[in-house]
Parts: sequence; C-alpha cells; structure tokens
Amino acid sequence: MFESLKRFCGSRFITCKSYYPKSTNDILKLKKGKYIPRGEGNSYVEASFSSESTSLNMKNFNKILSFNKSKLSVEVQSGVNLGDLYNFLLKEGYYISIQPGYPYISIGGCIAANVHGKNPHKDGLFQNIVSEIKLFDLKKKKIITLSRKKNSKLFYLTIGGIGLTGIIISAKLLVKKLKSYSIEKKALVVNNFHHGIKLINSEKKKNDMFYVWIDLSGNNLNKSRGLLFTGNFINDKKEKKDLLISKKRLINYKLNFYNFLSLKFINKIFYIKEKSNKIINLSSFLFPAIQNKIYFSLFGSNGLIEQQFIIPFKYIKYFSNKLQILLKIEKPLIVLATIKIFKGNQKYLSFSKDGYCITFDYCNNQKSKEFIGKLYSLISECKGISNIIKDDCIDEEIVSKQYKEKFKNFKKLIFKHNHQTSLNSNLSNKIGIT
Ligand SMILES: Cc1cc2nc3c(=O)[nH]c(=O)nc-3n(C[C@H](O)[C@H](O)[C@H](O)COP(=O)(O)OP(=O)(O)OC[C@H]3O[C@@H](n4cnc5c(N)ncnc54)[C@H](O)[C@@H]3O)c2cc1C
Repeated sequence: MFESLKRFCGSRFITCKSYYPKSTNDILKLKKGKYIPRGEGNSYVEASFSSESTSLNMKNFNKILSFNKSKLSVEVQSGVNLGDLYNFLLKEGYYISIQPGYPYISIGGCIAANVHGKNPHKDGLFQNIVSEIKLFDLKKKKIITLSRKKNSKLFYLTIGGIGLTGIIISAKLLVKKLKSYSIEKKALVVNNFHHGIKLINSEKKKNDMFYVWIDLSGNNLNKSRGLLFTGNFINDKKEKKDLLISKKRLINYKLNFYNFLSLKFINKIFYIKEKSNKIINLSSFLFPAIQNKIYFSLFGSNGLIEQQFIIPFKYIKYFSNKLQILLKIEKPLIVLATIKIFKGNQKYLSFSKDGYCITFDYCNNQKSKEFIGKLYSLISECKGISNIIKDDCIDEEIVSKQYKEKFKNFKKLIFKHNHQTSLNSNLSNKIGIT
C-alpha cells in the first residue's frame, strides 16, 4: 500500500510504499528491494521512510514477551511503544531508567536512535539498558541474536544504527525497581544562561532527573532567565500508579502563533506557572510533551525544527561568547531553549559526549534555517556534535565535520554489512549513506 508520511511536527508529506508485517514469516518473504524499518514514526527527522524504499511498519510486533523480576529484565517486541511498556512496568512496580520525553515512540526506535532520558549524565544512553537484540538480517534472511558477547560488533552497530543494519524484532531490556510513584519537582530560579550552566554543575550529582529551561526570546544570554527543574522520587501518602492514557493525534493548527511578542508572553506565563515546587506523578515529569501538546500545535502547518547539540565542557565559554554575537546579528526566534548535561564516550553516530547538551526549537522557516546553518559552524568549531535523529537540517558535510572518523567508520561498516541489500531512508540519503 501507499501512505503519505511526514516527520513529527513537519510539513512535508512524502508518498511512500509501506508494509505492515504481521509475523517474522512475512518479513522472511520480503522480495529484494529497498526497505527501512519504522516504529511509531515520531522522529523529528525523516528517519523511517523515503520515496525510494518500503517502510516496514512494526506496529504489529507489539507484545511484551516476558518479564523476569529476579533478573530485572523485560523482553519486548520492537513495535511496543514506550508508553505501553511504562504502563506495564508501573503496574508491577518497575520502570526503565532511560525514557525520552515522548511516550508514543517504539522500543525499536529507541534502540535504533540510541536515545537519552532525563539524566544522561547519570544514566547514559539507551544502549546501557539493552542486553540482547533479535535482529532480522535482510542479507542472510534470518534472525540473529546480538549482545555484548554474541555478535557484539553488530550489536553496537545496531544500537544507534538508524535502522540500517536490519529489522529489530525484539529486545531484552534491563529494568529498575521503582522507589515510589511520585516525584518531588523543584524549580530553582536561573538568572541567565551562564547561571544555568553553573547551577547544572552543582545539581548534577544530587538529583534523579533534571534539566534547565531558559527564556531566549530576547536573544540575550545575559538576560535569559529560566528555571532548573529537578525531579526526585519521593514517598507520598497520596501517591497512585498513574497510567498513561492512550495516544491522541497531534493536531497542527493552520497558523503559526509564535512571534517575538507572543513568545515573551508565553514564556512569562510558563515561568510564573512552573516556578513553584510540587509533587507530581512520574509520567508528568518524564513526558512533559504529552501535557503540553498545544505547544506543538501552535507551530502551525509548517511545523517546527529542533536542533540539539553537545558542546564539550571546555568550550562552553568560547561557545557562549560567539553565540551571543550570532544571536545579536541574526535575531532568530528561539521558541524553546533547554540545557542538559551529558557524560559518555561517543561511538559511531550515537549522540554522546562529555559536555552540555543544548536544544533549540524554531519555527520551520527560511530565517530559522539560515541561523541553524551558522550555528553548525560554531558547533563544529567547538568540537561539538549535532543530534542526527533530531535535526532535520543536517547533511553529510556537517555530520562528516562533527563526527569525523566515527562517521567514516560507521559508513564503512554499514556498507559492508548491507552488501547487496538496501536499507535506506531520507535521513540516510541526506547524510550520504545510500
Ligand atoms: C516530543 C518528542 C520528544 C523527544 N524526546 C527525546 C528525548 O528526550 N531524548 C531522545 O533521545 N530522543 C527524544 N526524541 C526523539 C525520539 O526518541 C526518537 O526519534 C525515536 O527514534 C522515535 O521513535 P519512533 O518509534 O517514533 O521511531 P521512528 O521515527 O519510526 O524511527 C526512528 C529510527 O529508528 C529506526 N527503527 C524503528 N524501528 C525499528 C526496528 N524495529 N528495527 C530497526 N530500526 C528501527 C528507523 O528506521 C529510524 O531510523 C523525542 C521525540 C519527540 C517527538
């Protein structure tokens, strides 16, 4: 069948062939051709489709296969979504420690993008909780078991492999026992970007989860007040198991409501509303995006562009000085700005490095794209890296400049692995892996 597919909060629809296999037998019967696995299709980039390939939608692979409390391990099919797994584990009093900010994404997508959660400094990337993967190898036409001991090269290439090594059928994940179902959410006042960086360092070891939000609507790092949110498990007498409700479609309004004036107002309201400390459900802290769906709708029919990058610790001063100049000249409309802190070695294209992770959301228009282009040069100059699963403007040149040997190596290994079969998406085309 044909479907019109688009990236999360994007505007461009692409007509693609798609197929919903019901079993591994269906996958086994696939004819020679170009394919790309697809989870929930909720990436900010066109990672799970292209007009040249058939999108293999893994929706029917939605079973939780086993749960072993003594081994702290759960085995799931790759199409299980994070929210459903969250609900299943919560009922049992467990959770996975690395959960991106949106529950309607698949476990296959989490593995293939090697995602991070609310405290990458402490928990690292998704690879840390994956103990085994069953991968359908299109070339060999069979399922291979991958782990740190078995086929370890392919294991590491598949995690963060953006779907280019084969089809993840299922995976074993490590779980943790929940300390409680409630989170004490505190908001510390951040005077500006520089203060945010200082605070994040003093808070990094004290909290289960944390991140900084700043108001950059004035394009001035010195006058960008914000809040540092910390989240810690707390025993609360009134606590209850807060199950996530089922997915509702994201609606994009026709018009874009964000401009400098409205943004100043929205940020002011957000600051006042969020400044108080409160006790909230775990899901509210983990998945802020579902309570603030309106945020995405307000970008209008053109949608949003997200840019996320890591600046190594020692370059942050240089980076912020240069960024300030760029902001003054270019005057971009940065709708959302957040900071996290990362720790970890970088492998292939995985988004990991010791440094500060900065995320900017923009309206999808030419002016934003021009600013993003200029920011890439600064990120590269500071030895930083951009997150390829979040950044729709990225291309081969940028990835090559920022990921250097690691990109070359990844490309080489993917070509070697995929000899004669074709796994290909718009993202892989964009970064020159075709
Ligand atoms: C609102 C929002 C908040 C987010 N927050 C975070 C965050 O905090 N941290 C973070 O790291 N990311 C975050 N993300 C990004 C998101 O986690 C990734 O884009 C994730 O890959 C999306 O999963 P999906 O199931 O929608 O994948 P898709 O978009 O369907 O696919 C993503 C990639 O995974 C591959 N893939 C999917 N299924 C399989 C499979 N079965 N076998 C092999 N490959 C497969 C695809 O080929 C593709 O390359 C966020 C995204 C949104 C929309």
